[in-house]
Order: sequence, then C-alpha cells, then structure tokens
Amino acid sequence: MDIHEYQAKDVLSNFGVTIAPGALAYSPEQAAYRARELGGDSWVVKAQVHAGGRGKAGGVKLCQSDQEIQAACEDMFGKKLVTHQTGPQGKGIYRVYVEAAVPIEREIYLGLVLDRSSQRVMIVASKEGGMEIEDISVEKPDSIVRSTVEPAVGLQEFQAREISFALGIEPPLVQQMVRTLKGCYRAFRDLDATMVEINPLVITGDGRILALDAKMTFDDNALFRHPQISELRDKSQEDPRESRAADRGLSYVGLDGNIGCIVNGAGLAMATMDTIKLAGGEPANFLDIGGGATPERVAKAFRLVMSDQNVQAVLVNIFAGINRCDWVAEGVVQALKEVQIDVPVVVRLAGTNVQEGQRILAQSGLPIIRATTLMEAAERAVGAWSNDLKQATRVRAVQ
Ligand code: ADP
Ligand code: MG
Repeated sequence: MDIHEYQAKDVLSNFGVTIAPGALAYSPEQAAYRARELGGDSWVVKAQVHAGGRGKAGGVKLCQSDQEIQAACEDMFGKKLVTHQTGPQGKGIYRVYVEAAVPIEREIYLGLVLDRSSQRVMIVASKEGGMEIEDISVEKPDSIVRSTVEPAVGLQEFQAREISFALGIEPPLVQQMVRTLKGCYRAFRDLDATMVEINPLVITGDGRILALDAKMTFDDNALFRHPQISELRDKSQEDPRESRAADRGLSYVGLDGNIGCIVNGAGLAMATMDTIKLAGGEPANFLDIGGGATPERVAKAFRLVMSDQNVQAVLVNIFAGINRCDWVAEGVVQALKEVQIDVPVVVRLAGTNVQEGQRILAQSGLPIIRATTLMEAAERAVGAWSNDLKQATRVRAVQ
C-alpha cells in the first residue's frame, strides 16, 4: 500500500526525520488559510497523489501570496495529474500540502528498499538528488552509495557515518544525517515498509537536513498489525478494480487485454498469463483467488472479472493441492448461475478430486468449455474469444 507525501512525512518525523513546517488542505481557501497559519512569505503547494514526478508535471508550485496559492490550487483541485509514474489516465487531486519554501543548498537522494538477493534492507543514496534514481543509475552510476543493514543489529552508527561521508556531508551535519538515516531505517523496519524514498533530502543554507519529499510503501500482508498505517489508505488513488478485490481478500491486478483469468496461486497466475500470450491472446487481469477457494470466493472472483468491460472470455485455471477440484467446480457452477456471464468460460482443473470436479462441470448443463492442459485451456480461451467476438460485442453493446 502506498501513502501520500504528507502522511509519509508525518510518519518519518515521528522517527526523528526533520521536515519543513507544512499543513494539509482540501480546498483553495483552506490552502491560503494554512499558509497564513504557517507564516513566512513563500510556500510550496504540492498536489497529493500517489506518484512521483509531480514537480515536472505542474503538481508542485512555488507561491508568494494568498492569490498565488489560490490560483495554484484552482489549477490542481479536481484535476487529474499526469506524471511519468501515473500512466496516461493520471491520478485525481483532492488534497494539497502547503509547505514552507526552503532555501535549498544541496539535494540528496535517499532510498531504502528490500534487496531480495541479500535478503536485507538496503540503503541507496546519491549526491545527485532531485533526479529520479533510474536516471541517476544511468547517468551517474558512480555517485550511488549502497549499504545493506544486518537485521540482527540494525543500522549501526558507524555505518550511517560511512554513508554520510560517502555523500560528502560536512562534518558538523553528520550527526543530523545519522539521525535521518537511523530514523528512516527504524520506520522501515518497525512498520513493515517495503520502500522509503526521500528525494530530495536537502541541506539548507542554514545547515539543516530536511526531507522535502517522502514516499513510503507498506507490505499489504503486514498491514493488519499496523492499524494506524492501514487507516492512511486513500482509495481515490487506487485502480478501482484493485481496491474492490483487496476489500474482498483477493489479489487482483488489472491489465489491458481481454481474457479474464481466475487462478489459484501467484506462480500459476504468472504461468497462465504467459501461456495466454503464447497462444496469441492478452490477459485482462491477474487474479489469484488463493488457497481455500470456496464457492463464494469463486463467485466473487467471477463478479470482479466480469466488472471489467474489456473481458471477452474467462479462463479458470486451478491446480488443487490444498484446494479441491470438486469445491472449485461447485464454485464455478454457482457463479455461473448467480453472475450474469455473457462470454465464453474455459475451465481447466488439475489435482485433488479432479474427476469429481469434471463430473460436476459436465453435469451442470452449463456451457463451460473444459480443457485438460494449460496450453489447451489458453488456446481454447483465445479461440473462443475470437469466435465469440462478434456475438460478445453485440451482447455488451445491447446492455
Ligand atoms: P516530485 O518528486 O513528485 O516531483 P517533490 O516533492 O520532490 O515532488 O518536489 C519537486 C521539487 O520541488 C523538489 O525537487 C524541490 O526542488 C522542490 N521543492 C519541493 N518542496 C519544496 C519546498 N518546501 N521548498 C522548496 N522547494 C521545494
Ligand atoms: Mg521528489
């Protein structure tokens, strides 16, 4: 789960990371009011969307008066901000963060990520802040400092000092940098984050180190133990299909194709998508219904897949290990009776109780296309979709 910049700043500041004074606003008037409350004579109005690259896309504006703040906000509220990270559809702006403008002397890049090969949290930093890390790694790869943290002891002072020296931090500021690094690490570890990014971390003219931007991503599977973090969820920033799935305990990723996939297990879902592509089709989604696929769960999965208007065929691919094919078959039959499905449905079952599952499908009298291998299932789904294309399009056009 992603959170907004202002939320990440609040979280990180509780771990000792210093931020500039700022406040949230839901309207242009409130933004101007917040600026007056903050005091000073220049502010930055920042669109709160779950994406980086806002500065270049017009989502970060420097303002010097009430009027400028209101005008900047009028340009943002209710609009979609399109940055290189949002995709062409953009993300809606419903909140802005008003922050005191800071005299920047130097910009540093600081990121903490999970490094899968060392199975450790890795700190990635560069003197070349302000640029995206992808660009830094292409244009200034030598400027990148990497350091992995030994989980048994956490981030050590000497290690944080080494990173500071590698970034060329002036000796009087090293202690502040160490506090920032340790704060980010503790926030990452204690809150089960998967990413913390401060870009830029700035050094001001008056010798302060401040997080001017902040991004945090959390492990969805650990959110249950951090209710204060899961409260920060903002569904307006998520793909509605994905939030509907998450609310129903299903893992769903919307894609651009037209073959809906209902699969158990992420690995099998990936293999299914690959096979659909191999058969010449394009998957409309990645949907993992998980281990215990009760008939209700299968029906929910069908409803979700069918809510995508692009879906023109559904492929159900189940390998029953913990699951049972007969339960899944019952689920498919129940779903087909309950959910209005006007596209071909191909089902491939393998594993525990497969014969019983096949019998249930065969005896249901429903127009289910059965397949024994994954390749056959993918070919049938792609074939069924092409044959059925005209008819399916007509049915949808009538609806
Ligand atoms: P994004 O990464 O989405 O473009 P940032 O928060 O990093 O958004 O802001 C973009 C740029 O705007 C920063 O690199 C920084 O130069 C400038 N900026 C952001 N906040 C402030 C601030 N409070 N004072 C001065 N400049 C700022
Ligand atoms: Mg940034």
